[in-house]
Amino acid sequence: MNYSIEQTDAELIGTTAAIRYHLHFGRAAQHLVEIQMEIDNTAAEITLTTPSWMPGSYKIRDMSSNQGNFTVTDDEGKSLKFQWLSKNSVRIEANGKNIRVNYLYYANERGVRTSHVNRFHAFIVPTACFMYVEGRQYEVHHVALHHNRTEWKTATSSLSPVKYDFENDELIVLGALNYDILADSPIEIGNHSTATFTVGSALHEVALIADKKYDINWLAGLLRQIVVTERKFWGELPYDRYVFMLLVGDGQRGGLEHARCNVSAVEPQAFSDYSAAQDMVTLLAHEYFHTWNIKRIRPVELGPFNYSSENYTQALWLAEGITSYYDRLLAYRSGFLSREEYLGSLSANSLERLDRVPGRFAMSVRDSSFLAWTKLYSLSPDMNNRFPSYYLKGGIAALLLDMHIIAETKGAKRLDDGMRALWAAYKKQPERGFTETEVLDIFEEATAVKCGELFMSWLDSSDELPYNKVMNRLGLQYLPKEISDIAETVYTENTDLSFPPAASALFVGISLKEEAGRLLVREIEDGAPAAQAGIGIDDEIVFVNGFRVQTSRSFIDALQQTGAGVPAQITGSCDGKAYSAAITPRSAAANEIRVMPGATPECRALLEIWLAR
Ligand SMILES: [Zn+2]
Repeated sequence: MNYSIEQTDAELIGTTAAIRYHLHFGRAAQHLVEIQMEIDNTAAEITLTTPSWMPGSYKIRDMSSNQGNFTVTDDEGKSLKFQWLSKNSVRIEANGKNIRVNYLYYANERGVRTSHVNRFHAFIVPTACFMYVEGRQYEVHHVALHHNRTEWKTATSSLSPVKYDFENDELIVLGALNYDILADSPIEIGNHSTATFTVGSALHEVALIADKKYDINWLAGLLRQIVVTERKFWGELPYDRYVFMLLVGDGQRGGLEHARCNVSAVEPQAFSDYSAAQDMVTLLAHEYFHTWNIKRIRPVELGPFNYSSENYTQALWLAEGITSYYDRLLAYRSGFLSREEYLGSLSANSLERLDRVPGRFAMSVRDSSFLAWTKLYSLSPDMNNRFPSYYLKGGIAALLLDMHIIAETKGAKRLDDGMRALWAAYKKQPERGFTETEVLDIFEEATAVKCGELFMSWLDSSDELPYNKVMNRLGLQYLPKEISDIAETVYTENTDLSFPPAASALFVGISLKEEAGRLLVREIEDGAPAAQAGIGIDDEIVFVNGFRVQTSRSFIDALQQTGAGVPAQITGSCDGKAYSAAITPRSAAANEIRVMPGATPECRALLEIWLAR
């Protein structure tokens, strides 16, 4: 049996399974799920393992730490012996009998990659919850949901129902053709709102998980537009049914992709604020793009998985970098961003952000990918100084590659053609991922541009990317913002009050957090004025020029009083001891993408091709 993550609902109807999980929610108020595994068995020994990480999130999470009260009996109730082999594996002396395994699972962290269960709902991340039987991952697995259906009325999952319809008093049983599909299929049970729409012959379900009421029909409309755009990009939809789960709550962000599902999270402002809504669309376009790029087209190291240890790959530039380039571009092509908004967002959220990452000179994108397990996912406050994110720099490298191909072919080809060629190659051999060399060869063949070596040199070095060398060919440049943009007089609407020109922004290379009335240093940029002044992460900033500062705003205002190039006197505190430092702010030199004044008609024509929609 080959590795596969493909399943249609029709394939599971009427199936039986020799590995069955029963989920009981009688202790949901304590964030507990009671799990019983029934395993039909003839082997003398059985080994069960809980994954230590989940595909798509490259961090060892040791999810077995949330499981306990492990017991095993045969199907007559007689206890069987077992022995732990490692932190996440246990061997059972089954003696050829069918067995019943019981364990408790504690789930109390809300997010897209963590299970969360309470009296109101259950969100189940399968890798954290379901142990698998070593050697039997390729069998059909069933999951039975034993919740009170008058209290929790709705269940949503990309797992397939094993019956066409479940009567109210009948157990809901869902199925997966193998463990990899089960592991890839989160479940939400509760009273979330739902909507559906079809594109082509594929059904799309939307599950909106939130404490308040939001407009799910508006959301479904956005998602439909994203599906239509990405279907046009790839040429087809690779599933019969797809589930969008959206978690809305304060402090929520991020997403996790699955083969027939994604779980994304946003703050409530996404439903009321224009710019936050655009960010949500970009996130949803990103997670949905993964349906093709990473879940199916993937680095050779990512599927089949070793669930117990790190699965290293240098190619997250493909999985996440290229996806990060296309998420915003496809949101623009969908019509959610104007051309000006797209260029502004590309500048502000990509290029300018990378400008503030000194770590881009310390590590390559490929190494950043390989070390994701301890770098990007460790979230050290010093991380921006040590490495570039393969999302961020990988996304910009993809942008430049697209522009390079457009320029070299005079607009006849672009990166889209390379991605579609990858998709065609994937379909010929879906059980295996791609090596980096194979990906680049396919790009070259699809575009007839010898771009592989150049692209690899961008991914493999810690040099600055050649923005202007590439962008100039499309009549664009990435240069410091023009001063007139910043110092323009601001008029308020409907009055004739006018304010003096805003003071130009200052840069000190510090980010701060406010905690219990204290202003603490969260991040310090290598080589920036704050670092030169001797200020460190976790220090408290107490006074600026003799004035008490307790908020980021008051810190900035105090610096504005002295201005750029003039030292400001800081009283800080480190380890409870006071110190003095002088910090000399610089003018913030922000860059932006602009059309070159002297761009030729040929260059402008290529620009139109790049931004065509
Ligand atoms: Zn992603």
